[in-house]
Amino acid sequence: MEPRILELRREIDRINRELLKLLSERARIASEIGRIQTERGLSHYDPAREEEMLAYLTAENPGPFPDGTVKKLFKEIFKATLALEEQEDKQKFLFSRETRPEDTRVRVREAVFGAGPLLIAGPCAIESEEQMQATAEFLAARGVKVLRGGAYKPRTSPYAFQGLGEEGLKLGRAAADRHGMAFVTEVMDTRDVGVVSDYADILQVGARNMQNFALLREVGASGKPVLLKRGLSATVEEWFYAAEYVLSQGNDQVILVERGIRTYEKWTRNTLDLSGAVLAKQLTHLPVVVDVTHAAGRIDLLAPLARAALAAGVDAVHVEVHPNPKVAMSDNNQQMDFAQFDAFLEAVRDLLEPAAAKRG
Ligand code: PEP
Ligand code: MN
Repeated sequence: MEPRILELRREIDRINRELLKLLSERARIASEIGRIQTERGLSHYDPAREEEMLAYLTAENPGPFPDGTVKKLFKEIFKATLALEEQEDKQKFLFSRETRPEDTRVRVREAVFGAGPLLIAGPCAIESEEQMQATAEFLAARGVKVLRGGAYKPRTSPYAFQGLGEEGLKLGRAAADRHGMAFVTEVMDTRDVGVVSDYADILQVGARNMQNFALLREVGASGKPVLLKRGLSATVEEWFYAAEYVLSQGNDQVILVERGIRTYEKWTRNTLDLSGAVLAKQLTHLPVVVDVTHAAGRIDLLAPLARAALAAGVDAVHVEVHPNPKVAMSDNNQQMDFAQFDAFLEAVRDLLEPAAAKRG
């Protein structure tokens, strides 16, 4: 290589490094401006300021680059700086997989959400000791580890059965204990978080309360695992933000439940949004459950929907089971009786126990 060229190239290398240092210094200062703008709620993009800089740069341009080239080069610098400011602006959410790449597991007694498919089952409402004992005995014998049942019921009509309250909590706890199960039940009011926490292993926040922010904070502060149902008309983003309220209280034990959303369809109670459940698996690190009972509202769809959900990789399926649904005090048409549950289990068994199915 011609020695003169080598020497000049070394000079170019030196200037490149100087330019890089200056660009980095410029970026750091611009970021500082960006932080202040964010604090004040101001936009990062200021076209008048860019015009002003381009005006003096072209006026003072010593050549040999024509003004157009100087403008083009600096516009690239402005663009890169703006992208940097916006990147820093992007909030890191606790629910996001970007914040926590590995799956969160929620351990409740014998059940581990996020470590192989589970079933949550039990009646819609807790009605009596016999009802809870019979259901728990039946389900435990079939390997179900999580018993559900509502003691505080969110009813569309204020005149409908509202649940047994603390008496119901006692019955649910006793039935779960007797059969070695975990107990999940809904809490609707911040004032009841204490009493429900005394009896339940998992606090359920129902669809109608998904954006009850005071309740979300309170269940978050309880430190108990929280089963968070998606609201009737909530977008996936709103559902994740609701989870963020719980997580931001320092409680990372959140289980997301897709339970169908309200659409124009009348032949199902709600429309199961499987895409929402899969997005929850992909974008968050939290365990995801699909509640096929409240999504479909009809027994004939439960097994096919549960199969679809399990095949899509959700962590658990939620169903309602009652010893005698015809006389149930809520959701009569959608709860399975014991024989229907056995048929349901048979229909999904290969997906619930993939290892056993493979062994044949
Ligand atoms: C329930 O689980 O009994 C219930 C009321 O569900 P959702 O909040 O999904 O309607
Ligand atoms: Mn119900």
